[in-house]
Amino acid sequence: MHKTTLQYAKVLDKEDPLAYVREQFHIPTDQEGKEWLYFTGNSLGLQPKRTQQYINQELQDWAKYGVEGHFEGETPWLPYHEFLTDKMANIVGAKPIEVVVMNTLTTNLHLLMVSFYQPTKNKYKILIESDAFPSDRYAVASQLKFHGFDPREALIEWKPREGEELLRIEDLEELLNHQGDEIALLLIGGVNYYTGQFLDIKSIATLGHAKGCKVGIDLAHGAGNVQPDLHDSGVDFAAWCTYKYLNSGPGSLSGVFVHEKHAYNKELPRFAGWWNHNKKTRFNMRQSFDVMQGAEGWQLSNPPILSMAAIRASLDMFAEVGMEALRNKSEKLTGYFEFLIQQIDTDDIKIITPENPVERGCQLSIQVKNADKSLHHKLTEQNVITDWREPDVIRCAPVPMYNSYQDVFMMVEILKSLL
Ligand SMILES: *Cc1c(COP(=O)(O)O)cnc(C)c1O
Repeated sequence: MHKTTLQYAKVLDKEDPLAYVREQFHIPTDQEGKEWLYFTGNSLGLQPKRTQQYINQELQDWAKYGVEGHFEGETPWLPYHEFLTDKMANIVGAKPIEVVVMNTLTTNLHLLMVSFYQPTKNKYKILIESDAFPSDRYAVASQLKFHGFDPREALIEWKPREGEELLRIEDLEELLNHQGDEIALLLIGGVNYYTGQFLDIKSIATLGHAKGCKVGIDLAHGAGNVQPDLHDSGVDFAAWCTYKYLNSGPGSLSGVFVHEKHAYNKELPRFAGWWNHNKKTRFNMRQSFDVMQGAEGWQLSNPPILSMAAIRASLDMFAEVGMEALRNKSEKLTGYFEFLIQQIDTDDIKIITPENPVERGCQLSIQVKNADKSLHHKLTEQNVITDWREPDVIRCAPVPMYNSYQDVFMMVEILKSLL
């Protein structure tokens, strides 16, 4: 049982084996130099101090070697994306051949749908969750239109039940029993951005595949937050950004997963560029197209090294700290946060994120009855950085990499004083 004192939060920080990691980040401060209580690592993760050094190294190599930097220096640019693969694969429970870092997230969803959304006259619908992130919804709606279908009819939503906020797997099963024969693709957020619900990816894949649907997962809110096992889940593909929990900077690149079962299939429809052409003959520019195996076979362009350097810095930290340890702290920190929220003496607050730690990451989505955005502004004025979703939800992510138990304690004290 937790306690509600500052003294107790200090003890938790003292006993936290990952407390030292916070020192390795730049924590934003107000004008007086007071550190912000930063709870939006689910939107833009903070900057690791080492990132600058990793990017500088590439700037120096560019200055020193020019085009020869593709082959020279400690981390030559030609195979640069390969330096990211193993560590990224570890984070999402994949095999190296299943993972590549390239482009940005929504772009990758489209590229993957080129391969895995193959509608026919009778099997053409796409299923998403009703609270899907807007970009994902726009992406699938535009794919439907591009293939000549009307999203009003062909976009199917998996919805929470009346009066509920969370999705139930048995409702997905029901939907698939009724309409599965017409559905070509399921594209689901593995961790829902709004509620923080971590869905059972393996069950989704099994249910979808039983009806002959392809299954894709958007892991934007999952990568670096929860420990999915993408390979074992059997999903066909997944994609995620790296600027949220993966701390690699605004607008940074996206990770892509294509299951090993598709790794050697050269017949899959896909778009091509020189970067998914066989490495061995890539610069022998007269060869006809010979697609690479594995997830690398979805690349198009030579990648932006400066952004990849930031990802490399972050992945090195994840490898040092370990997902296991992060997840351990995450469950404790979020559990403590939940406890403190529950101690607030009011009926106006409801946490809509699942209570079961297995069904959530670090984020809690807190519904405040009768509140409006002025609550969010007042929190911000007091250095509490959170995310507001209309009509009345505050999304807060205590991130185990850099948030402390004292951050959580102080945040809840300030929230209490504003209610
Ligand atoms: C953050 C997020 C995006 C953002 O997409 P970009 O292409 O990186 O701008 C898309 N989908 C989900 C589910 C997200 O959480």
